[in-house]
Amino acid sequence: MIHVGVHVSIAGSIDKAVDRAQEKGCDTFQIFSRNPRGWKIKPLSDKEASRFVEKLEKSGIYPPVDHMPYLPNLAAPPGEVYDKSIEAVTAELQRCGELQIPYLVTHLGSHRGSGEEEGLQQIVSAINTAFREVENGVMLLLENTADTKNSMGGTFEHIRRIIDQIEQKDRIGICFDTCHAFVAGYELRTKANLEKTLQHFDDVLGLEQLTLIHLNDAKGGLGSKLDRHEHIGLGYIGEDGFRVILHDERIIKLPIILETPVDDRRGDSENLQKVRELAAH
Ligand code: ZN
Ligand code: MN
Ligand code: MN
Repeated sequence: MIHVGVHVSIAGSIDKAVDRAQEKGCDTFQIFSRNPRGWKIKPLSDKEASRFVEKLEKSGIYPPVDHMPYLPNLAAPPGEVYDKSIEAVTAELQRCGELQIPYLVTHLGSHRGSGEEEGLQQIVSAINTAFREVENGVMLLLENTADTKNSMGGTFEHIRRIIDQIEQKDRIGICFDTCHAFVAGYELRTKANLEKTLQHFDDVLGLEQLTLIHLNDAKGGLGSKLDRHEHIGLGYIGEDGFRVILHDERIIKLPIILETPVDDRRGDSENLQKVRELAAH
């Protein structure tokens, strides 16, 4: 049985995310635990946190996943943005602990022209600092990116070099985004090619690091580096590609989150249905 869900809104109050996940028929779900477009963090009250935790327990949905907001950039050069980014990831780890959310997904950011090596050291230092600040069982999942200009974490080798320097490696896992991987040049659409990509992942990172899947189709072709998500089966990965992906034991044993668009062609429920259909046939 696959375990699949979507990104849901926390509008109103954070526990409403659980209601929305339930209404959409999710087995798992992802949230932004706060407004993803700002820097401001309003601390959670005990009441807010316990309402979320209680609802979650009752729902039977698991795991909930938290995604870092958009503004923090862990690879930013030294300065205000970098400092605020460390504060943001530290606060977010803390919030996940309070909400009993086991996984926090983060992008690796952009070095903004300061160079890959400099960016890498900034990420490592940010994560090590945050882990020293917050002692809890929350895992930080590094997400592979679309390998756009100046962006960090577009290749498995790149992520390896980051993990190598993390002090508390048992607190790190990987979120594999199918759209990002595909547009970064990793072919996934046939059994042989998926095997090659996963084998490469295993060689470089180790499949035991793979913790979560972001299942998205791509508006751009293989290697296009275009980070635009498409409905499952309607993009360049296509239905046949997803059928292959959704029949791989190494993938379907993991929680799967869709970050697909909502528009006049499809909503979340239709994409969830499509995934379950492709996984079953
Ligand atoms: Zn992401
Ligand atoms: Mn993603
Ligand atoms: Mn994306």
